[in-house]
Amino acid sequence: MTQTQKPGDARHEDRELLEATLRKGGASAAEIAETLKVDKALDSSSHGKKPGAIHAAMLSRNLPFNLFCRRDAEMPSHVKEIAKRCIDKARAHLAGGTLLADSGKFNPLLEEELTRSLFYALTIPEEHSGVGAGMTDIARIMIDIGRLVSPIIPGTLSIKTLIGPVGALKNFGTPAQKEKFLHYMAKVAFQGAFAGTEPGRGCAIADPTTYGVVGDDGMLRIYGEKLFISRGVYGAKIGLFLKIGGERKVVIVELPELATDTFHIEEYDMLVLKPALDNNKLVFNGLAVPVENILPGDGLEAIFHDLDDGRWAVGSSATVLMMAVLASLPEWVSIRETFKKPLKERQMIQYMMSLMAAYILGSETLTLWAAHQVDQGRSAAVEAMICKTFSTERLREVMTELGPDVQGGRTFESNNVIGKNTMNAGVSRVYEGPNKMLGMASMGLLSKAIEQSGVKDLFVGLKESGIDMLDLKRLSTRGKVALLWKKKRQLWKNRRKITPALWFAYGAWCSNRSGKVVMLNDKGLTNKFDWSTIPDKRFHRHLIFAAGQWFKWRWNLLQLIYKYGPALIDEQMIIEYEIYRPLSNIVAMLTCIDTAIRSHAIGDQAKVECANMLMEVLANELLGRRPSNFDLRKAVKALFPHIMEGRLDWLRDIPVAPIFQPWWNENVEGGQETAKKEGGFREYLL
Ligand SMILES: Cc1cc2nc3c(=O)[nH]c(=O)nc-3n(C[C@H](O)[C@H](O)[C@H](O)COP(=O)(O)OP(=O)(O)OC[C@H]3O[C@@H](n4cnc5c(N)ncnc54)[C@H](O)[C@@H]3O)c2cc1C
Repeated sequence: MTQTQKPGDARHEDRELLEATLRKGGASAAEIAETLKVDKALDSSSHGKKPGAIHAAMLSRNLPFNLFCRRDAEMPSHVKEIAKRCIDKARAHLAGGTLLADSGKFNPLLEEELTRSLFYALTIPEEHSGVGAGMTDIARIMIDIGRLVSPIIPGTLSIKTLIGPVGALKNFGTPAQKEKFLHYMAKVAFQGAFAGTEPGRGCAIADPTTYGVVGDDGMLRIYGEKLFISRGVYGAKIGLFLKIGGERKVVIVELPELATDTFHIEEYDMLVLKPALDNNKLVFNGLAVPVENILPGDGLEAIFHDLDDGRWAVGSSATVLMMAVLASLPEWVSIRETFKKPLKERQMIQYMMSLMAAYILGSETLTLWAAHQVDQGRSAAVEAMICKTFSTERLREVMTELGPDVQGGRTFESNNVIGKNTMNAGVSRVYEGPNKMLGMASMGLLSKAIEQSGVKDLFVGLKESGIDMLDLKRLSTRGKVALLWKKKRQLWKNRRKITPALWFAYGAWCSNRSGKVVMLNDKGLTNKFDWSTIPDKRFHRHLIFAAGQWFKWRWNLLQLIYKYGPALIDEQMIIEYEIYRPLSNIVAMLTCIDTAIRSHAIGDQAKVECANMLMEVLANELLGRRPSNFDLRKAVKALFPHIMEGRLDWLRDIPVAPIFQPWWNENVEGGQETAKKEGGFREYLL
């Protein structure tokens, strides 16, 4: 047994296998120790939850489509009222120009009003004076308030209550700790943050150097530094990740109002999220905190738990920014003429704007679906990772490529939504786990599903039969047969260990050829899929395609595990480009087919066309096809008029500000009339 394993740890055998695997793959002792800690915390953070939708689908012979669908309930009326109240208050500040205070920061008065309107109490359970709203409803509210006013506002909610101190207290606090803090946090305006990152501990966060020492006076004294802490300001209440007596813990710290001998803040100039977030370094030099503020349990587990449950919020911000960009374009492409034709008549412009609309649909769908997983008591780890990476990757494309290619030079005016937010969009790839790191982290979680299918037992069974899987792989077919024949008695003895995985592999191989779309019922059994539930026949083709890709992906994953064995963990490019990205696209397709079905049911043809466009784009990406095929061009033609004629409800009521550089020249012939007629093109203010 290794040092990280304790008796009673149900997965210690799995971890032994992982350790052996890493060792064979040539990993250093430090890397092995770090990986084992992360693996254990990731595993524990999902305890008590049902397996995630992707995990469950991986273990099913056919594809249970309803794992990728949402069952939306009507938002409770009291939650609706809170949402309305908060949006009204925030809009009043936007209209009065007081969204930001004179300091250029998010206005504390608005934060106070939002607190009184119970905005920051949404995630807090009712028994602690909160609202106890579901995550799907919170996600909807975050998208709405972000879209109608500013993404800064949902950003503060996420920092304080999803990844911040509220999340940690809610999920890991003792009744006394909840009593002490949560009532207060539901009712009183406060600045909240989570402090995990350190100068020397970013991605490799598992082993913090910040530490606490418990004194005889019952106080914990904290030493160390935390870097890049959003809203880490004097007086804030933060969740702090540190080590106490060699154990990783989270402690709730009420930071002093001013610098002291034991604590101070170091400011630096970040280029991103300036109005919203004071991003600071926190320096602890013996700050005393009551020991009662230490949360029970493993601190790393608490971090992963909150990230799994709240990472979808990054998807909501990305969705909102893409909406704001697209909303700024219809007017522009209508009035801007080049070579005597308005931009809106050009195919490439139509394609790029339609692409943005498709990305918005994908990003919003994944956000709501990942939040819905949490409401269902499922582990949403991989689902939220996919939501975050899909939405922020598409946002990057919108901000750096599609947007500038439609707006030209005006993109870079300081008041332009793209110009102002390009860096903000870029940084969303980094926080809450850099995108590439999430792809790699997902591999650990996906392989757990494979382990559960009996693959681990297969390795053990073969080993006990005197066969090393890696040696077996290196042999020729004839050599393999000879070895298996030689060991036939031992293999027969270990057949119970070996056969489940072989059945799973055989099932995956069969479904790669003839797998079906099915529905999972409440008893965990599968029923036939009723194709008449999809009235728009184009989506029959899309679902058949996505399901085929799913089976192919699963079979490919098994082959890669077999081919690379322990070394797969170091094949980061294979993990990213052959495993994680295709999976993300398949999941986006499946979840958006559900969106198309529900949009069709309410007669929202604009969103159906967005979904159809996204299907064509993702199919091209999965097949490595160029984005100029007939179906995609047809999808653009069908979607573009909906964008231009205002039928996408997301794009309505997004706030606007006057442009700095009008597009006409009043000194040339016809210029003055044009100016009068158009009244001025407007840009969007965030
Ligand atoms: C605006 C902003 C707000 C933030 N807010 C908070 C906050 O509120 N609280 C908090 O705790 N933290 C916060 N962070 C920190 C953020 O979570 C970290 O920046 C992030 O986790 C990455 O850590 P790092 O910057 O130290 O990168 P490093 O660990 O130095 O890694 C650098 C790069 O190398 C790559 N990399 C690292 N390891 C590997 C590997 N094994 N294989 C391949 N590639 C690798 C990663 O992709 C990464 O982009 C914030 C950061 C920013 C920029």
